[in-house]
Amino acid sequence: MGQAAERKKRFFEQHPRCCFCGGEAAATTQDHWPPRSFFVGRIWPEDHVFPACGPCNSASRVHEMLFAMICRVRFSPTQVGVSEEEAQREWERNARGVAQVLPEKYRSMLLSVTEKRSRARPLGLQPGLGETYRDVPIMSIDHPEFYEASKTVARKLFCALYYLRTGRPLTSRGGIVFLWTSNAHGMDQLLSTENLRPILAHFPPIQRGRGMLNDQFACAYTVIDAYPPSALFAVQLNDAVAMIGAVFGDISRVGVFDQIPDIENHQVFPYRWAK
Ligand SMILES: [Zn+2]
Repeated sequence: MGQAAERKKRFFEQHPRCCFCGGEAAATTQDHWPPRSFFVGRIWPEDHVFPACGPCNSASRVHEMLFAMICRVRFSPTQVGVSEEEAQREWERNARGVAQVLPEKYRSMLLSVTEKRSRARPLGLQPGLGETYRDVPIMSIDHPEFYEASKTVARKLFCALYYLRTGRPLTSRGGIVFLWTSNAHGMDQLLSTENLRPILAHFPPIQRGRGMLNDQFACAYTVIDAYPPSALFAVQLNDAVAMIGAVFGDISRVGVFDQIPDIENHQVFPYRWAK
């Protein structure tokens, strides 16, 4: 057996169950979270590899591609150590993928020059030297599919981080409440949002994590050491996306699910595949 195959075998011995659908299915694949497509310059956290069954691994493919567009909108290639050209090539490759599998949604994201101009002004964005508003990198994420993509991403990201920090898959008794923001306001503003208070009240103070990978990925978290454990995560991807996920090991024990007005729109569960 080659070294890679040996490593893989060891991985599945240590992680025999899929961490995305309740921990009952056998893991047959390795799944990177956050997805590699979210990272610029092929720089991603090497150790964030998770055990997944086939259906869970492939379930998020299209939504990852869509969400990667948001993650890659705002970043500084030079800060990451990647050339503008390379970052642009990666962006175009991903955009082509989205245009191919979701042509209608892709078209809905494209803005006319007039639309770009009116959206760019409040953001303080201006065309660079020799450019017009046509070249300003803004797109619309009003399409409902982006919301669906955020749910898919939240489900897998927080199932994965929960597995990483508690050592166990989130079971079918568990649930996730998530919030995200797609601008550069970041975690601090999201964490101080009024409607997060009922959630935050359940958790010990969050530990601010270290930025990783030249600030392409930062994660702060705290764990309630109960059976089953619950955990709270604050994740930042580039300057583009901040996401908070409260992962409850057993939702029947938490009243918080009724305390937040539009909670149904912000809750996800481990995948439940028909047997
Ligand atoms: Zn699974």
